[in-house]
Amino acid sequence: MFEEKKLQELKDMCRSRGVSLTPQRLAVMRVLTARRDHPTVDQLYDDLTEQMPGMSRTTVYRVLETFERLGLVRKIDSRASKAHFDADTSLHPHMVCLGCGKVVDYQDRGFGILEPPGITDDGFEIIDYAVTLVGYCRQCRRNVDN
Ligand SMILES: [Zn+2]
Ligand SMILES: [Zn+2]
Repeated sequence: MFEEKKLQELKDMCRSRGVSLTPQRLAVMRVLTARRDHPTVDQLYDDLTEQMPGMSRTTVYRVLETFERLGLVRKIDSRASKAHFDADTSLHPHMVCLGCGKVVDYQDRGFGILEPPGITDDGFEIIDYAVTLVGYCRQCRRNVDN
């Protein structure tokens, strides 16, 4: 369901923005929406090698950058690890583990979510923001305790 919705969004966006809908772009969107664990470029690349042999890591990265520019994906930067990507572009907080680098959605979505305030007094238009909670996951906490 989510997968189909995102593929349609990609097609519509390509049409309206005059971006070509290449097999590479379709394939990256497919593998990204097939998993909900905020994969890195490397993880997506691994998933893609079966479907699109010969596609380079650089291509995967470029496709994701294009998606980000088009507002189709969110890039989650964390000081803990490499960039992770999310096809769910709704405003929602992420938890980043400083131990293993994993990124998960913070499920209590009531936390910290405010509408972007719009235009500030000095004319800065705020259109988006990100909430990243950092800490240690259960597994990493266990490893520290032992
Ligand atoms: Zn961890
Ligand atoms: Zn997310």
